[in-house]
Amino acid sequence: MVDPTSDLNEDVSEEEAPTCAVCGAALVQDPDHRVVTRVDDGQVETTHFCSDAHREEWAG
Ligand SMILES: [Zn+2]
Repeated sequence: MVDPTSDLNEDVSEEEAPTCAVCGAALVQDPDHRVVTRVDDGQVETTHFCSDAHREEWAG
């Protein structure tokens, strides 16, 4: 998704930025950025969220 109005950090392109697992927002310099790391079958899964609200929504 390309958002021409985004004010992107020069060091992090939107392609490299993580996205919220709930709403898909690119998390570039997002102060409410949340990360959940868990191990599933020996694989480390890192899931990103734009806010606590979406983290809780995802967790159910
Ligand atoms: Zn979100």
